[in-house]
Amino acid sequence: MDKAILQLHKRATVVDAHIDTLLDIMVPPARPMKFPTPRNFAERSDKGHVDLPRLSESGVDLQVFAAYIQPEYKIERALHRVMQLADRFYQMLDAHKDKMALFTKVSDVYEAERTEKIAAMLSIEGGEAVEADLGILRMLHKLGVRAITLTWNERNQIADGAAEGRTKGGLTNFGVELVGEMNKLGMVVDVSHLSDTGFFDVIQTTKSPIVASHSNCRALCNHRRNLTDEMIKLLADNGGVMGMNFAPAFVDEKKDNASLERVLDHVDHIVKVVGADHVGLGSDFDGIESTPKGLEDVTKMPYFTEGLMKRGYKEDDIVKILGGNFLRVFKKVIG
Ligand SMILES: [Zn+2]
Repeated sequence: MDKAILQLHKRATVVDAHIDTLLDIMVPPARPMKFPTPRNFAERSDKGHVDLPRLSESGVDLQVFAAYIQPEYKIERALHRVMQLADRFYQMLDAHKDKMALFTKVSDVYEAERTEKIAAMLSIEGGEAVEADLGILRMLHKLGVRAITLTWNERNQIADGAAEGRTKGGLTNFGVELVGEMNKLGMVVDVSHLSDTGFFDVIQTTKSPIVASHSNCRALCNHRRNLTDEMIKLLADNGGVMGMNFAPAFVDEKKDNASLERVLDHVDHIVKVVGADHVGLGSDFDGIESTPKGLEDVTKMPYFTEGLMKRGYKEDDIVKILGGNFLRVFKKVIG
């Protein structure tokens, strides 16, 4: 790869807003799920998509680790499961103090870059963990959680998920309260996996910019997990950002056609619709069964930068897309 491209990739503050790697490094390993790839985070593996050696090579400066609650833990054991995953997150940070640092505010990522570490942020994928109690939400914030994906695909106490679209249900009354409290606390509201009605409700309710941490464009790939152009415009008006998801089914309706170039088509589309300030990366690595051609694991991230260069993006815009846009939202919301 061209040296100038690698230098740009290294110079940029790269943010990946969503991976599910915590599940793979659970001890004992996560109970069998669809794609279990249990392994030691410290060792380079040919399984899964992210481990420390590969992450260190990737140029990613801020990695958001999702605590994803598998369906068998819902609803009663959702908080219990998030505590186990949060423990794994902190065990990982403790074991690699020389290479990783906790992210609870935006200055943490610049300090990490200065000391050649990777900043790690904890998010929760599935608001069940809050148990419809704002006190628990506040405690999760004290635990270091800085973002919550309000729902997974099904309905919970906060809202209807993407798979519940038939009901046209959005935020519950508690969901409205929760968004208000997250705004106050400085926690990022994540609308990936939310029903369409839920998305519009959040846009109406939130006083802070929001994210769709790992969602693509429905105009290019008609999937309920992707955003319509109308949603993308509202997200842009809100000052928010969406992270490009590498799940082949969200990249191209013909999964086999999913490739780095197709992911870049989604970036192009967003830039065409709302400009370069509202798109970033949310790979979903270790949460997806297969990967697009050219994005087989986290070490391929520099090729994303190369692809943007080849498509004629200006350096300023590339830096925003690689992470600047997420950091703008994080700064505004979290501080
Ligand atoms: Zn997800």
